[in-house]
Amino acid sequence: MKAWLPAGVLIVAGLAPGFAMAAEGEHAEHAELAALVRDAFEDPAAAQAELQRRWPQDATPARLAAWRLVRGRLLLAAGKADAADAVAVELAGQPEGVDRSWLLRALLQEQAGRPAGTLAERAVAGLEARCRAAAVAWPDCDYRAAWEGLRLLQREQAGQGAYVDAEASARRGLAQAQAAGDRHLTALSRVQLALLLQAQDQTDAGRAEIRAALAEAQGDPVAGARVRNFEAAFERRAQNVAGARAALEAGIAQAEQAGAPHLAALLRSNLVDAYMHQGRLAEAQAAGRLALPVLQRFGDRVYERGLHHNLAVAHIKLHQFDAARQELARVADISQDPAELVSRARELRELGDAWADAGQYKEALAAFRDERELTARINERNRASALEELRRKYDTAARQRDLDLLARDGQIKDRQLENRRLAQRVGLAVGALLLLSLALIGVVLLRMRRAQALLSANQRLLRAQSERDPLTDLSNRRHFLAVMDQRARTVGADGFRGALLMIDIDQFKTVNDRYGHAAGDAVIVEVGRRIRAAVRASDLVVRWGGEEFLVYAPELPGDDLAQMAVRVLGGIAGSLITTDAGTLRVTASIGFASFPLGDSASPGGAALRLHWEQAVNWADMALYKAKAEGRNRAIGIAAVQAPDADALTAMLQDLDAACLNGQVKLNVLQGPAA
Ligand code: GH3
Ligand code: MG
Ligand code: MG
Repeated sequence: MKAWLPAGVLIVAGLAPGFAMAAEGEHAEHAELAALVRDAFEDPAAAQAELQRRWPQDATPARLAAWRLVRGRLLLAAGKADAADAVAVELAGQPEGVDRSWLLRALLQEQAGRPAGTLAERAVAGLEARCRAAAVAWPDCDYRAAWEGLRLLQREQAGQGAYVDAEASARRGLAQAQAAGDRHLTALSRVQLALLLQAQDQTDAGRAEIRAALAEAQGDPVAGARVRNFEAAFERRAQNVAGARAALEAGIAQAEQAGAPHLAALLRSNLVDAYMHQGRLAEAQAAGRLALPVLQRFGDRVYERGLHHNLAVAHIKLHQFDAARQELARVADISQDPAELVSRARELRELGDAWADAGQYKEALAAFRDERELTARINERNRASALEELRRKYDTAARQRDLDLLARDGQIKDRQLENRRLAQRVGLAVGALLLLSLALIGVVLLRMRRAQALLSANQRLLRAQSERDPLTDLSNRRHFLAVMDQRARTVGADGFRGALLMIDIDQFKTVNDRYGHAAGDAVIVEVGRRIRAAVRASDLVVRWGGEEFLVYAPELPGDDLAQMAVRVLGGIAGSLITTDAGTLRVTASIGFASFPLGDSASPGGAALRLHWEQAVNWADMALYKAKAEGRNRAIGIAAVQAPDADALTAMLQDLDAACLNGQVKLNVLQGPAA
């Protein structure tokens, strides 16, 4: 048997309030518009024409929005969904129409069999907010629109099994209707509540609501017919088929009394189902025949198709097989929502059972086969949707994995980048360190070189100092030795070359004795200065010891040497020397010689090569002669005649003898007279 059509569907089609007159204290225009919507359920074209005729001139935006909503609902009732949608767009374009636009869209969704709850909720939020202030009246506050949104909301919530939420929405609608004193909407809210309470196993409370709804609908046959339709649904669900049938029969009577054939036809198609369930086939057929043309006229295809099916089953059960086949052909003619496979399968099972009961096994088998195929398709669809669900989940997982991989790849790249940066930094650091090290090494080297230079300078200074006489600032004996060593290395063992003057201050002891040691020092210093002044810059003046000086002239011809000795004698004794202890005059004695020794005419002269120490001894010996001969004089070795070096050494042992026998010739130069 065809499933009981949900009461809600009927409400969609007949959502208009049933009262022609305005409720007490209500805005007359609002009531008139509500009546137009109600009328449209029975005659959409007439209602549209009437609306057009009454369309207001110079309406406020809020009023215009209210009128536009009604126009949209009339278009919806006429099955012109596209035009209704255009009105919804129009409404959305004005601030006062936005909430009504959401409502119209929700109604469009409901008619198309799609979820309308979200849109309805949005519409209700705005519409209820506008009605909150008590002073606000239509068209700013439109309680009927708010109620309609709540009806859609509770319907969707109930469809999802959220009965508590749905009941709350229905009670909000009831409150709206009661506050407005709208008995029709109050009645409809109560029947909604009745079904919701029944769904929550509160059958008695539900039935009480139905009784209250019937009371509210008193005096309004259209409202009464609708309440009866809900009552039938309530009883059908309570397995009270007789009660359902009675309610429908009463409702149909009221609808016909009110001149509402469309509403009557809908109730009748539900009545056919009740008759079928009770096995009252002839009555079912009769009711169906009455309902069918009306349903066709109003284009209620879903109802029409269900009716054809029920009639076909009735025909089969009455063994009117040709008529049954005709009805089935009509069922096939009306395309069904492909999503409605389950209800189609139930239809086929009903048909199969009917054919089998009627002994029409071939038809029964065909119906069962179709049902099996459909069941297979349902299973396949379920499996496919399950697979799709799985695939979606898998895709999500795979995408997540890809994302994870990408993220990890990104992390790796980040780390590589970080490593590269680190390496660069390390490279830079190493480079910097290297440069620093090089700089440090350079600095160290520079310092070392400087230190070295300083050291050698110091050494030079030290050496210079160590080779210098501190009192006279002349070279000391060590320096003379160093110079001699140097000469020996560069010139070789060629013997000493150059002139030597050994100078000694006469009777110096008496200077110390008479003037003191400090005056003696001063005299030594002055004598040294005078010697320095008497010789050339290239000559080396050495403080040889105590009050003894040595002059070394590297290259000097014989005559010049004698002149130099005379200059030195004159220099020392030529003028007085002033000291802190008094002024005094000193003389000096000089012994001098030029090397190599020997007569330049004699052939052996060239062979008489001497070590510098021997040369100094010769000068010393000449000095000794000068002292011995009375002081304040210079004695030079003018010529030496010796066959060899040994003879020369022997001569030095006894110079006086050598002088006497003419082997040595002296050059005696007198110092300045006192
Ligand atoms: P002669 O003419 O024989 O050389 O007589 P002299 O007194 O100079 O005798 P001699 O050369 O032997 O004596 C040198 C003296 O010079 C001995 C020492 O007291 C003194 N003398 C040596 N060195 C210094 C010195 O640096 N300063 C002073 N004030 N006296 C010194
Ligand atoms: Mg002396
Ligand atoms: Mg002396």
